[in-house]
Amino acid sequence: MSEAEKESVLIVGGGIAGITAALNVADYGYKAYLLDDTPSIGGLMARLDKTFPTNDCSICIEAPKMYEVKSHENIEIVANADVRKVEAVDGHFKVRVLKRAIFIDEEKCNACGKCVEKCPVTIPDELDARIGGTRKLISVPFPQAVPNMNYVNILCRTGKMRDKGACVGGCVVDCSQCRECGVAMCVKACRDEGKGAVMLWQKDQWLDLKVKSIIVATGVKTAPLEKGTWGLDVYPNVIDYMNFERTMNSGGPTLGEIVRPSDGHHAHKIAWIQCAGRGEKGLNYCSKVCCMVAAKQTIITKEHDPNVECAVFYNNQTCYGKGFDEFYKKASSLGVRYIVGKPFDVTEDPETHNLTIRYEDESTGEIKEEEFEMLVLSTGLVPNERNERLAKVLKIELDHNGFFKEAEPLSKPLETAVPGIYLAGGATGPIDISESVAQATAAGMKAVSKR
Ligand SMILES: Cc1cc2nc3c(=O)[nH]c(=O)nc-3n(C[C@H](O)[C@H](O)[C@H](O)COP(=O)(O)OP(=O)(O)OC[C@H]3O[C@@H](n4cnc5c(N)ncnc54)[C@H](O)[C@@H]3O)c2cc1C
Repeated sequence: MSEAEKESVLIVGGGIAGITAALNVADYGYKAYLLDDTPSIGGLMARLDKTFPTNDCSICIEAPKMYEVKSHENIEIVANADVRKVEAVDGHFKVRVLKRAIFIDEEKCNACGKCVEKCPVTIPDELDARIGGTRKLISVPFPQAVPNMNYVNILCRTGKMRDKGACVGGCVVDCSQCRECGVAMCVKACRDEGKGAVMLWQKDQWLDLKVKSIIVATGVKTAPLEKGTWGLDVYPNVIDYMNFERTMNSGGPTLGEIVRPSDGHHAHKIAWIQCAGRGEKGLNYCSKVCCMVAAKQTIITKEHDPNVECAVFYNNQTCYGKGFDEFYKKASSLGVRYIVGKPFDVTEDPETHNLTIRYEDESTGEIKEEEFEMLVLSTGLVPNERNERLAKVLKIELDHNGFFKEAEPLSKPLETAVPGIYLAGGATGPIDISESVAQATAAGMKAVSKR
């Protein structure tokens, strides 16, 4: 094994845990490959508004780290990529990576936006659709994305979006075979700018890496709910806590205005239902962060307008970290009502789209009902569905919930059953940002000091 090969670490997942691990590894003088299967690093934190328990602006903390990653001489970002094969050979790992085409020449695109302007097709945004978010078929993942460039929806590659108006003209050639496109408006707009960065014929690429260790930092996602649970996806003013985070965020589709999806009017009375993803068919564990997320969201709502009434329906208050109890008390002191009791029914007035919540008030045993203008569901955190495939490729285990399993959590935290493969952040289970950063720093240290 050459010196260069000995000194590389692969980090799978480019959220705050992966970013921290990569910077740590790179600062020790090792080469870090930071791989994400989406077009940008940043993970969930890049989409949040502010962060508990200090309510600092989330992207203002993370973006400088993302740019440090981009400019660090020891870090290579491998975006839009999947780990497909891993073989342990003589104390290191041979890794086969599929880097999927984004149909953009990364050297030439500077995200000027001309192609986005010209793209005629708008689709619902994957993250923000419930609150009216849309994007073009060619777009930047989010304004502070790293790498900062556009990517093209894969359906455009074979011209499949043409019947939706993506391209003009009568061309019937498969875009992946043709290099002369004057039909696709994005290609033409980019050529008119003298760049030629949009390449609908770009092919996937295979990369072969040799690394001494691997850190899995694939994070978490918000728990999905079955359609109709608490009225979600049936009543427009019922959204989940990630949707609300994006509503508060000035970079989100409502530009930070706390407005109702049904009519765009400011909401004056908002309810949160905690543990909304738990129950017989739901999660059997506490997602840890949701109580603090609700406290944060109510505090920020009150900062926007102190007259907005906020009520949180809950069973247990989880204030597990430093400063968390004070944070929860701050929400209460601002007039946020905490109601012990899990609602059992939500109905909608079809005219006003207001929501009536029926619940048992556990402090008195009374059945009550109350009307709200908007409802936020704190659904919890679940493992990424891509964990299963990655676990097979890495030959490491998942726990019964689908998070990656530490082989000996007490004596060898963050280590898996395969020597040289480590874990950090949400890959291990529900977690907040500061714990993710602490774990990633430790995992980085373990990865470089592996013998
Ligand atoms: C609504 C909401 C609000 C929150 N607010 C706060 C807060 O205020 N304060 C706080 O401390 N915490 C908060 N959290 C929790 C916080 O988001 C997490 O602690 C943090 O995002 C975990 O970071 P991570 O890097 O482990 O995972 P993630 O941020 O989930 O990043 C994981 C990355 O891995 C990539 N990935 C996944 N699978 C693969 C794969 N197989 N191959 C390649 N790449 C992959 C993903 O694309 C992603 O980029 C909040 C969570 C939610 C849902």
